[in-house]
Amino acid sequence: MEKILISSGLIIAVLALTSLHNPKSLRKMGPGKEFTLTILYDNYKYEEGFKNSWGFSCLIEGTGQTILFDTGGNDGNLMHNFRAAGKDPGEVDMIILSHIHWDHTGGISEFLESRTGIEVYMPRSFPDEFKKEIESRGATPVLVSGARKITDNVWSTGEMGSEIIEQSLVLETPGGLVVITGCAHPGIEKIVEKAMEIKDRKVLLVMGGFHLLRTGTDEVEVIAREFRDKHIQYAAPSHCSGDGTIRVFKEIFGDKYLPLGTGRVVETGTL
Ligand SMILES: [Zn+2]
Ligand SMILES: [Zn+2]
Repeated sequence: MEKILISSGLIIAVLALTSLHNPKSLRKMGPGKEFTLTILYDNYKYEEGFKNSWGFSCLIEGTGQTILFDTGGNDGNLMHNFRAAGKDPGEVDMIILSHIHWDHTGGISEFLESRTGIEVYMPRSFPDEFKKEIESRGATPVLVSGARKITDNVWSTGEMGSEIIEQSLVLETPGGLVVITGCAHPGIEKIVEKAMEIKDRKVLLVMGGFHLLRTGTDEVEVIAREFRDKHIQYAAPSHCSGDGTIRVFKEIFGDKYLPLGTGRVVETGTL
């Protein structure tokens, strides 16, 4: 009996030590849910069988509601890529549009032909004609101004920026926050700061368009180092980030840089 007690005690001690020495298992102890993120529209390609053109769209599954974040441009590629990914547009519960640019909103008309009666979250400052157009296609515009909860474990940063108004998404996972941007016109650093204001947690992953196409390499390096110093675990710049930006993030984040592109599936639970 004594022997059994000693050995079970040992096992517990070993298990406790293993979890202490495995930062991943400790990270998983926070609140939130794991998500599956599928890139359905991007100018970068990740998998064969997908079509690419300038723009961005990401399908977010894992909360009770399936979210389509941005819709890419109006060239049929979004619907093609839905099929290529084996995803059903009919399963989408809501659309969230980051900003008015055509490469993020253009695909919505075609999408609403196959899936109607859903809510479309958009910055309040969107033009009235756009809101009317959405209504005429049987969907309901939901206007976002300040930071707000969208659904379980999902927040919008609310409208940010002065010239081009944009909202970004913040997901809460057990391992930390996931920040998803469309184009990041208000500035990728400001968006990350805002996300951490909404939820006082570390950032697990920042992904999407970083809008650093015309930013010099030195400046991009400063941003990437700052992100790493803030303990942002993973970075996945795509869309309007620029090839140079992607190279810099790859160099600074090493194996914590995640390549995106159409067909890429990120399971937050595996990070
Ligand atoms: Zn864009
Ligand atoms: Zn844009």
